[in-house]
Amino acid sequence: MANHEDIFKKVISHAKEYGFIFQSSEIYDGLSAIYDYGQNGAELKNNLKQYWWKSMVQLHEDIVGIDSAIFMHPTIWKASGHVDAFNDPLIDNKDSKKRYRADVLIEDYCAKLEEKANKEVEKAKKRFGDAFDENQFRETNPRVIKYTEEIDTIIKRMSKSLESNDLEDVKKLIEELGIADPVTGSKNWTEVRQFNLMFSTKLGSTADTATDLYLRPETAQGIFVNYLNVQKTGRKKIPFGIAQIGKAFRNEIVARQFIFRMREFEQMEMQYFVPPGKELEFYELWKARRLAWHHALGLGEENYRFHDHDNLAHYANAACDIEFKFPFGFKELEGIHSRTDFDLSAHEKYSGKKLQYYDNEKQESYIPYVVETSIGLDRLFLAILSNCLKEEELQDGTTRTVLSLPPSLAPYKVAILPLVKKDGLAEFAEKIYNDLKIDYNVIYEEKDSIGKRYRRQDAIGTPFCITIDHDSLEDNSVTIRYRDSMEQERVSLDVLTKIIDEKANMKYLLLRNHIKDLLA
Ligand code: ATP
Repeated sequence: MANHEDIFKKVISHAKEYGFIFQSSEIYDGLSAIYDYGQNGAELKNNLKQYWWKSMVQLHEDIVGIDSAIFMHPTIWKASGHVDAFNDPLIDNKDSKKRYRADVLIEDYCAKLEEKANKEVEKAKKRFGDAFDENQFRETNPRVIKYTEEIDTIIKRMSKSLESNDLEDVKKLIEELGIADPVTGSKNWTEVRQFNLMFSTKLGSTADTATDLYLRPETAQGIFVNYLNVQKTGRKKIPFGIAQIGKAFRNEIVARQFIFRMREFEQMEMQYFVPPGKELEFYELWKARRLAWHHALGLGEENYRFHDHDNLAHYANAACDIEFKFPFGFKELEGIHSRTDFDLSAHEKYSGKKLQYYDNEKQESYIPYVVETSIGLDRLFLAILSNCLKEEELQDGTTRTVLSLPPSLAPYKVAILPLVKKDGLAEFAEKIYNDLKIDYNVIYEEKDSIGKRYRRQDAIGTPFCITIDHDSLEDNSVTIRYRDSMEQERVSLDVLTKIIDEKANMKYLLLRNHIKDLLA
């Protein structure tokens, strides 16, 4: 495949063509940055949820899950700081009338410098061959040092200006760096302004009694305001965690990059409640555990990296992202934050209710500290889809498109394909279909040549195709074709479930995760 942009375009068109993701309200020309999941997308998404939920809740005896409402009392968002501080700095280009996030324009500029530094490294790698020491080169090469220092200075200045809300300086920085509108090249910018990302709506039927509400911008607050309910009814002892999967809404200024940045999206969050003073210990533990969870998927450990936040949010005393190598570069996939006692203390203050935990062992009450892990389900979906979509050159000179999903995440685990409809083959195939469908999501297809049917299953990531031919009726055996190797094997019906189970049962993915988790 060609450059990164082409790869990303291919991912987007594949997602639509094969029923993974559709533009929302497409027949009305769509709605910006809102997407619907199609028949295959919904299955993959559900499998991702299951992997996360089972790993968090089922594999950790100290974690339970809840499902809180999207609408919450409006004062919650005042207490959490979202009403006053959940803003992004926006800037408009006066000529193109396009709107950008000022911080993203600056970060993209830095990413280009990083790319230049990486090119120097690549060149040197080729020149020096095996003897090349990358770390030493990065530390001593004057050009690489210059790029790295430049990035550092820019990011530090931006963070400082944003923290002190000095938006004039953010604009000055954009002008000093000569940053132009990426679409038109114009440098004619407006001032930088803050923009609140929460969507608001009204509860109630008449205008004068209606209450202003927000659609939640994160699922975390539903966990905070329920933490004592769960602790008391579940008889939980600190440390313990609460997990939740649910929709969140943000009126993003620039919603590009497909499902990477949406206005309605889904989060999978876990808040872990710990004694004060222990939070950084648990922060490190959860960093290691979450990375292990990603690695267990087998998409290549080199595709993940940690990125520490330079600019800590008002509630955090440590924070980092797990970044993934998307087609457009390393970007945030998951956030891990040590949120201190900020949220619970604020809710205690605003609600007037005591939110202290009584520690029996220490015989004292305190407000627990919180370590959170927060991953965007849709971003995870995009990470998997873009990593697994491959165009392979075959020995006969043709190419095939294959979605090499981890088998337990695939929308369908098995495709049942009778060679022809007649001679009782369809009936025999249907029986196998009915036997397997209790355990797995199975697809049945009898149209088109077997080659075409294989290609279609490759494109949606089905790990096993079962072909039924005339011999099957005689000897009770079928041909199983493996997606990744394309090898075919004649097997007896008796061993079919065992073969599928060994690869496609989520249990083995969880087991891999569990072992890595214990070592973390
Ligand atoms: P970003 O810096 O990319 O805007 P964030 O730091 O604001 O993200 P968090 O508030 O930490 O994100 O949210 C946790 C996770 O939720 C993110 O790691 C990401 O995976 C996901 N997420 C956040 N905003 C969006 C969005 N608009 N669309 C899809 N996923 C999102």
